[in-house]
Amino acid sequence: MTRDDYDILVVGGGLAGASLAAALADSDVRIGLIEAVPPDASSQPSYDDRGIALAYGSRQIFAGIGVWPRLESVAEPIRRIHVSDRGGFGAMRMSSREVGYDALGYVALARDLGHALMERIGPVPTIEIITPASLAGFSEAGDNVQVDIEAADGRRTLSCRLLVGADGMNSEVRRMVGIEIERHGYGQTAVIANVTPGLRHDGRAFERFTPTGPLALLPLTPDSCSLVWTHPDHEADSVVALDDGAFLERLQEAFGYRLGRFQRVGARQSYPLSFLRARQYARGRVALIGNAAHTLHPVAGQGFNLGLRDVAVLAEQVDRARRKGEDIGAPAVLDAYARLRKGDLARTGGLTDSLVRIFSNSYAPLSVARDLGLIGMDLCSALRHGFMHRTMGLGGEAPKLLRGVPLNGASRRKGHVVA
Ligand SMILES: Cc1cc2nc3c(=O)[nH]c(=O)nc-3n(C[C@H](O)[C@H](O)[C@H](O)COP(=O)(O)OP(=O)(O)OC[C@H]3O[C@@H](n4cnc5c(N)ncnc54)[C@H](O)[C@@H]3O)c2cc1C
Repeated sequence: MTRDDYDILVVGGGLAGASLAAALADSDVRIGLIEAVPPDASSQPSYDDRGIALAYGSRQIFAGIGVWPRLESVAEPIRRIHVSDRGGFGAMRMSSREVGYDALGYVALARDLGHALMERIGPVPTIEIITPASLAGFSEAGDNVQVDIEAADGRRTLSCRLLVGADGMNSEVRRMVGIEIERHGYGQTAVIANVTPGLRHDGRAFERFTPTGPLALLPLTPDSCSLVWTHPDHEADSVVALDDGAFLERLQEAFGYRLGRFQRVGARQSYPLSFLRARQYARGRVALIGNAAHTLHPVAGQGFNLGLRDVAVLAEQVDRARRKGEDIGAPAVLDAYARLRKGDLARTGGLTDSLVRIFSNSYAPLSVARDLGLIGMDLCSALRHGFMHRTMGLGGEAPKLLRGVPLNGASRRKGHVVA
């Protein structure tokens, strides 16, 4: 093996790509993580100031890959969730106590997640972070993939057994391997900011459906919340441009006074939203993970959680093949990965897409029906618990990492987390 031969090359060192490297850090596979923007650059697009709601299942995965101890002190627990419809009569409340967990999930800044992942993989001798470097092209030849990259020192050709596309929504890996996509816009843009409310959130997260689109306030620190506020595309720029006072006034009007009077707001950023699903998870010796495989509306905070479950399943398939001395990029490995991920993507993508459509519609009979739906869920604990288990990433039989068990740890037969 020369310096440019790897077992796995991952294109994209964002949240998904770095998580995969961390998941395989103790597996004795040589990994090259090709990333266009260095992880410590302020322009690193995946490690910005958005608050990411981590499902309880994601905490399990981070525990299994040795990242949770680094996150615990910066991740704020979500103990209760309040869902309401502005101008409607329906509401639903969920609490971690009713399902016997200490938290329904956690919120951490994407930047803190990035730091924790880099701290985990930085010292690992089998992982090389190749940055700044961009994918220029690749071709499969026998049981190898030749990968051309544009790096700081010019063009280089690397080779690997398995190429992973973790290069986000506009994935070049996906385009070059010829995997088709299903994509639609929502005509909505998310405006995000960190805000300080007048009252402490006490572990409460709020999801409020407003006429402009969903508004989420998530507990970020004991005194502040992460705001994700959706607007029609044509209104988003003017909302971002509002001065602090006018922004807070508009927010107060949309959200109400459940958290008292808002005191402060930080810098605003906007993200145009769309839905994307790759028609295949893998082709040849190429697998997709994270936003390269699926990009979701942030309404239910599921995008990265789904991507992290891709990571857990792919890492386990690769680790299993390696232990048996098999080819880690063989069709059997990637077919198993694709088969195991199909159901979760269909359920999570479908749930998120339906929520956006149902709650972004002002057609009167539909708005009455959704309020009745919220009340039904609030009154019926079985329905509510099913919904909570799904959004927490819990229930059923699952691979090791989703149960918080390291890849080299003893496997238990019964799990809690859905793959
Ligand atoms: C407003 C908002 C709020 C969100 N909130 C939540 C939430 O609460 N919970 C949740 O689970 N999810 C949430 N998400 C989704 C979450 O942010 C994404 O799922 C996650 O960031 C995707 O990570 P990724 O690594 O797959 O892709 P990306 O973040 O897009 O990273 C891709 C990486 O690949 C690199 N790259 C791209 N092309 C190349 C190339 N050719 N060569 C080399 N490198 C390349 C990029 O520089 C980047 O670092 C939210 C999203 C938004 C927009």
